[in-house]
Amino acid sequence: MSALQPLILLVEDDPKLRRFLNITLTQNGFRLDEAVNGAEGLRLAAANNPALVILDLGLPDTDGVEVIRRLREWSAMPIVVLSARDQEKDKVSALDAGADDYLTKPFGNAELLARIRVAIRHAQHSQGPDAEPVFRQGDLEVDLGARIVKLAGAEIHLTPIEYKLLATLIGYAGKVVTHSQLLRLVWGPNAELENQYLRVYMNQLRRKLESEPAKPKYLLTEPGVGYRLKVEG
Ligand code: CA
Repeated sequence: MSALQPLILLVEDDPKLRRFLNITLTQNGFRLDEAVNGAEGLRLAAANNPALVILDLGLPDTDGVEVIRRLREWSAMPIVVLSARDQEKDKVSALDAGADDYLTKPFGNAELLARIRVAIRHAQHSQGPDAEPVFRQGDLEVDLGARIVKLAGAEIHLTPIEYKLLATLIGYAGKVVTHSQLLRLVWGPNAELENQYLRVYMNQLRRKLESEPAKPKYLLTEPGVGYRLKVEG
């Protein structure tokens, strides 16, 4: 075990899920701290300053969203929450409280590792100088300096709002962004309840960038929660 391996704090009361995550994460180059409730999780987070926290929302002693609020009082460490399939509201509350992403149970190894990598990478980027000036994914290429969008080499004209929506999603590439976060970032603080703006512009953007707008490759819907710009790996 090397001190260079990133430390992950797992806060989960289900012993089976803890064992599965322990095996998966230690086999993939992470060290692991385990807590079985919120109080122990908060104590270990403060004591050992992990690179990332995996947090179950349904804990025996306290609400997972409350744990996120307490962590965010002093730390920007990435937090990925675990939630059940029918808990869209809880996912949104967790993201709005400052969680970085979520996984819906049951989830597979590949999805788990991809979410963890994106969250850790994003946390490192937001501390350093700005990210890659050119975003590339599949046929899509966005030059953020020149504000030029290309699809398979051909320039695509976007309206200013469409471009702002795309550039905002690129800023969170690979991570979920909630409806209210997108509305605030693209339209401003007074637009948070205007979900139809977002649907209209997302549809326009998909018609311009997706070969099959109903089955998007890049601009993914997270049902009941928001959108995610897909990235590989
Ligand atoms: Ca639980």
